[in-house]
Amino acid sequence: MNADVIIVGGGIIGCAAAYNLAKDGVSVIVLEGSANIGNGGSVRNGGGVRQSGRDPRELPLIMYAIKNIWPNLSDLLDTNVEYHQQGNLRLGHSEKNKQILEGLTERAVKCDLDVRMITGDEAREINPYLSDAVTCASWCPTDGHANPLTATMGYYKAARRLGAHFISDEKIVELRKIKGRVCQAVSASGNIYEGSKIILAAGYESRYIASTVGVDIPMQPVLLETLVTEAVSPMFWQMLGTADADFYGHQTDHGSFVFGLNCGLEPYAKPGKPVSSSIASSAACRGIMRYFPSLEDIKVIRCWAGWMDSCADHVPVISPVEEAKGLILACGFSGHGFGISPAVGLVLSQMAQDKETVLDMHELRYDRFRP
Ligand SMILES: Cc1cc2nc3c(=O)[nH]c(=O)nc-3n(C[C@H](O)[C@H](O)[C@H](O)COP(=O)(O)OP(=O)(O)OC[C@H]3O[C@@H](n4cnc5c(N)ncnc54)[C@H](O)[C@@H]3O)c2cc1C
Repeated sequence: MNADVIIVGGGIIGCAAAYNLAKDGVSVIVLEGSANIGNGGSVRNGGGVRQSGRDPRELPLIMYAIKNIWPNLSDLLDTNVEYHQQGNLRLGHSEKNKQILEGLTERAVKCDLDVRMITGDEAREINPYLSDAVTCASWCPTDGHANPLTATMGYYKAARRLGAHFISDEKIVELRKIKGRVCQAVSASGNIYEGSKIILAAGYESRYIASTVGVDIPMQPVLLETLVTEAVSPMFWQMLGTADADFYGHQTDHGSFVFGLNCGLEPYAKPGKPVSSSIASSAACRGIMRYFPSLEDIKVIRCWAGWMDSCADHVPVISPVEEAKGLILACGFSGHGFGISPAVGLVLSQMAQDKETVLDMHELRYDRFRP
């Protein structure tokens, strides 16, 4: 099968790129290796749409997405992506935490982000459910959160309405060059898909697939875990995080709280299917209750896990490849690709059409790891 652009990977990055390309009248085929669109990190994530705490190389993407795309995304996709922009509180309880938050804040202010340090009392004015354990916080009023499931499915459905073709259960095992250009993607069942550009957005699997045309991106899979509580009456809409990075989360439109977790044992997860450990949820709940004692009696109803594609320098590779012309890489999102996905989808569609990108992407080039 042929199309102008072949996209490998049906996560939010592949779906957002497909949507933007189809909107411009470009023919697209998206190949998803599993039975379900969004089966990777895209529908398993914590929904954070935050600028604060980001690497400066990634900040322009998220600032662009928050200014220009997220506020209208529900209308654009005709799907409620449950976007809330009521700010991000990153909480601290010690002098060491304060130093971490000050460092992150200073770095972001230099990139013109509206983020500032506040006291524990000022944080409690913003969120009265916070305990006295909070002694400092960083506050970014333009951060927020959204629903990863409806956002991913929203892009998928909108792309299909515009003519993009999706094929699931089609695992790509090899890319091939013809006359020096990468233009074919070959599936495990032997099907060949040909296009003048191939966007590789297959999460960690992108590493193996890119290696078939001699390109290596240093990344590794790392497990991330999330929990969801029963639904309760609305309490607050801010996105939360901590200086210790032990949990982050928010309350959803449905009333449940979704918290992402980090207990420090993630690098030791067993390879294969992503499975929640018995440790992360209870460890994170202790942290959550310390800051939010009023959540103490709310029941945790489910937890799940997902792999992130952790890049060696913790920011993604979003880049055409000089020595493998035709190939465009979109991988290594390192656990924060959801918030930036609307901007990444736009930039990828511009790269695939050889247009100038709305943002300068040279900091996220594939060859930055060269000596
Ligand atoms: C638990 C968790 C919490 C997170 N929290 C946040 C957050 O709060 N905020 C944020 O911004 N980000 C967060 N992230 C990260 C975010 O989810 C990812 O960065 C983002 O979803 C990346 O999207 P993607 O489309 O590149 O990857 P994926 O969603 O992983 O999509 C890749 C797709 O490629 C498919 N694929 C793999 N191999 C092949 C193959 N050989 N052939 C064809 N298809 C293939 C996979 O099945 C998958 O569907 C979190 C991630 C996890 C796991």
